[in-house]
Amino acid sequence: MQDRFPAQERFSDGAQYIAGRLTKGTSGVTHTVVDPATGEDVLTYELAGADDVDAAVAAARAAFAGWSAATPGERSDALHRFAAVLAGHAEDLARAESLQCGKPLKLTREFDVPGTIDNTSFFAGAARHLAGQSAGEYSGDHTSYVRREPIGVVGSIAPWNYPLQMAAWKILPAIAAGNTIVLKPAELTPLTSLLFAQAATEAGIPDGVVNIVTGTGRAAGERLVGHPDVAMTSFTGSTAVGKRVAEVATATVKRLHLELGGKAPLLVFDDADLEAAANGAVAGALINTGQDCTAATRAYVQRPLYEAFVARTAALMETVRVGDPFAPGTDLGPLVSHVQRDRVASFVDRARGYARVVTGGEAPRGELEKGAYYLPTLIADAAQDSEVVQSEIFGPVLVVLPFDGDDEGVALANDTPYGLAASAWTRDVFRANRATREIKAGCVWINDHIPIISEMPHGGYKASGFGKDMSVYSFDEYTQVKHVMFDNTAVARKPWHRTVFGDS
Ligand code: NAD
Repeated sequence: MQDRFPAQERFSDGAQYIAGRLTKGTSGVTHTVVDPATGEDVLTYELAGADDVDAAVAAARAAFAGWSAATPGERSDALHRFAAVLAGHAEDLARAESLQCGKPLKLTREFDVPGTIDNTSFFAGAARHLAGQSAGEYSGDHTSYVRREPIGVVGSIAPWNYPLQMAAWKILPAIAAGNTIVLKPAELTPLTSLLFAQAATEAGIPDGVVNIVTGTGRAAGERLVGHPDVAMTSFTGSTAVGKRVAEVATATVKRLHLELGGKAPLLVFDDADLEAAANGAVAGALINTGQDCTAATRAYVQRPLYEAFVARTAALMETVRVGDPFAPGTDLGPLVSHVQRDRVASFVDRARGYARVVTGGEAPRGELEKGAYYLPTLIADAAQDSEVVQSEIFGPVLVVLPFDGDDEGVALANDTPYGLAASAWTRDVFRANRATREIKAGCVWINDHIPIISEMPHGGYKASGFGKDMSVYSFDEYTQVKHVMFDNTAVARKPWHRTVFGDS
């Protein structure tokens, strides 16, 4: 379907981006990107092997001296140009992202692409505001200050659910702080990471500062994480793979940033605006066909509102228009692949044995059958310890459970291994404030669920990982802090020397 986005033509030179140009992978293995809406081939390319990863790391290493020595103003100017170039390619980026992921064009045009451009503008500004926190004569005899320095070559690994935004979240703070980077996107979805890197070159960011290797996790991913010339690993993906990445990174003593899975609760107290909560639950559960680490997955609704919430949420889900991502009027596209669709369906099929499937629970029939589609699905009355409540399904599935007292609601919200995001719905300021304090998650929304913004951090608690993407907090991941201490006394025998020799 070359008219959707001409991927084969655009990446005829290969799907690796090393030292400012596209090259072919040398692993000897090819991969085919498939349009999940149609099942048709989009791009067949050679995957990266160890030699390609080594070449990309060498390019990043060679670029580090120059890029890290650029002034903050120079890096900022380059990032401002980068944002402008991206804006010029907005439609291409949106179409490529819709094609490889199955996202409706309205989502990529209104969310993925503008969010990425805004992130780029944000880091263009933030690049000039990197600061050490303190300088002074703390000991009396010395002047101390703090230097905030880049770490070196960053090796990043990204998932397939938001390929463009994940590339941006990894690459931008790293390079704004003076690092260089090698990013491995998921092999299913390489197109927009490659377009992003090409735009960086077009904006005048030096060759080697941004490199992309597109290969499998086992081959290219582990090579990158374990590479001795890579100083830091930043990973976004599932908790299971994150554990493996941590093992490999730890063996080579690397700085580690892990953004992992989620199972976000949506807590609806009995004074909430029911219509707002139901709308928020459906939008929060179905965005990106539910393949969102912060998606609303578990709605806990206080008993007096429970049945009305179930009925209203199911009715709203039935209004969502499932269809071709490129067709006007589509609200919900397919999942990223047939494998992912079948995985989601198997969760729902097992749940029929212990819970109530209120709506959905099947793939749509007719002309959508060839795509990886699944209908918006609501499951009620599952037990708290059941797998649909505890495990990340990563599809358009919302589970609803009742609760009685406020204590119970907060406890249930916290009762999974994850802690990425949560929301509470109430008009009572004390309940809202309590939820923000007591829910263990990296983000808590009040009376909304999903919005993110460049100025604010994103990252997990508990098994959802550690470290922050976006905002100035991400600089804590991508910089290291050096204490510099000057002697101010010019005395040969300093008072503290008596601990080693002499008495005074
Ligand atoms: P995944 O963990 O299967 O894969 C993520 C990346 O890791 C891919 O690029 C993959 O090729 C690579 N990989 C796989 N095995 C590897 C290995 N042994 N060594 C190195 N790299 C390896 O995740 P996915 O299915 O692509 O994405 C969905 C997951 O990502 C969900 O769990 C979701 O919650 C999570 N996610 C989290 C955030 C966040 O900010 N916390 C954001 C988006 C997605």
